[in-house]
Amino acid sequence: MRELALCASTIDFEFCTHFNVRFTVSEASLLDLIIKKVRVVRPHQEAVELLDLGIKDGKFVEIAANISPSKGKEIFDAQNLLGFPGVVDAHMHIGIYQPLDRDAVTESKAAASGGVTTSLNYIRTGQYYLNKGGPYKDFFPEVLALSQGNFFVDYGYHIATISAAHIDEMPMLFEEYGIRSFKIFMFYGGYGLHGLSDRQDLFLMINKEERYDLAHFEFVMRGLVKLQQMYPQASDRLSLSLHCEVAEILSAYTKIVQQDPNLTGLRAYSAARPPHSEGLAICIASYLGYETNCLNINLLHLSSRKAVEAALMMQNLFPHINFRREVTVGHLLLDTNAPAGQLAKVNPPIRSRADVEYLWQAVLNHQIDWIVSDHACCSAEKKVSQKHPNNVWLAKSGFGGTEYLLSGVFSEGSKRGMSYNHMARLLSWNPAQRFGLDCKGDIALGYDADLVLLDPRETFVVRASESQSQQGYTPFEGLELTGRVKSTFLRGNLIYDKGEVLGQPTGRYLLTSTK
Ligand SMILES: [Zn+2]
Repeated sequence: MRELALCASTIDFEFCTHFNVRFTVSEASLLDLIIKKVRVVRPHQEAVELLDLGIKDGKFVEIAANISPSKGKEIFDAQNLLGFPGVVDAHMHIGIYQPLDRDAVTESKAAASGGVTTSLNYIRTGQYYLNKGGPYKDFFPEVLALSQGNFFVDYGYHIATISAAHIDEMPMLFEEYGIRSFKIFMFYGGYGLHGLSDRQDLFLMINKEERYDLAHFEFVMRGLVKLQQMYPQASDRLSLSLHCEVAEILSAYTKIVQQDPNLTGLRAYSAARPPHSEGLAICIASYLGYETNCLNINLLHLSSRKAVEAALMMQNLFPHINFRREVTVGHLLLDTNAPAGQLAKVNPPIRSRADVEYLWQAVLNHQIDWIVSDHACCSAEKKVSQKHPNNVWLAKSGFGGTEYLLSGVFSEGSKRGMSYNHMARLLSWNPAQRFGLDCKGDIALGYDADLVLLDPRETFVVRASESQSQQGYTPFEGLELTGRVKSTFLRGNLIYDKGEVLGQPTGRYLLTSTK
């Protein structure tokens, strides 16, 4: 492209025409890019293979042990680095604590720097995000307009149906915008986002007479089932995600814990939102799924042994329900002794080391379907109370971490004997499949050429100052990780290399309308 532009504007026209013609004819058959010497990690294999990858029109079109350099317009030497499929971070929040258009730019840069090429974001009406209620027919086009041209990686949305009227909008969201997954925050309705009892009608911006409660959750499930009946061919790809914590348990335990002077920081927050609240919520959600015949259920960010055990009990009890079980990299890397303290406040809370090790065991036992970041960029000024910076109750929930998702899983997973291929399944293939992203999640012919090159030997210490994120701190500060992302390709374009995010945002909205 560069030569053509130069040619057209400055140089001798005859040469230019000649050059153009020769270029076009021979170019048609050439690959756009050959990435040579990649130790390719594929989700369905049990080993890593040294291969060359031929890319054309943004897709992998040739995968072979040796592709002749003469077949490509451009060559990139991967120098025997590991090549994972671009990571599908299936649980992020863009635009929660800063304007969505700005957040999309900085946080998708962070994603690209961590090897993430697909960002799936949970969005809802109410406080934070666009800070308004109302129907999705007005709200969601605004979300898309703010997203367009601002993402460095491909993106999509999951939508939380907050008001009763939103349930009626589910078919419209699917038909117009390709939305396939919906969300319920089980603890809203009786408990605030940050552990304070906000007025729910104000927080969720729903009518005073409406309730965001178990009955609402039931009707969301019935709404999804109705949508599946309307579109049986898409039925497998339509699913419901749940944040499983029970408001009543959180409220009662928060009061108890706040009066206990021996409990502070992350330990206090974990005790205020105890693991059995997750377990109970999972049981309720599963029974409602059974009752309503809502069979594609994603249990989000299981944080504790009790949560995973409850999820497995429900799988045994209701074998016909297609459950997916999610964990976050935060819950796999941090425990309640993390030096970050209230900077690591998140829902569900960071748990004890015993819970962390149990989660890893569940990952290794193939009881977990995918790992995500739950990235929610919350700058330090917003995160903690300026007056009482050490007060965990006043701190906001959530933090970023998409940039450490692959390296974090690689580093800690490798220590525990997790195979690279298993990592590729949990970080790319499984979420892509569940959410209907048929061109994502594998390094295979016809798939989008999303690739991340990782140096398995390079060790680095996490420093927020080196992150692309706007957050300014990280609860992972000071962690030593082995396995560093060197380069990221999005549909064959190099978007991150040698520590820099390159070019302009070229991310595409992935969920196409069914019309
Ligand atoms: Zn989340």
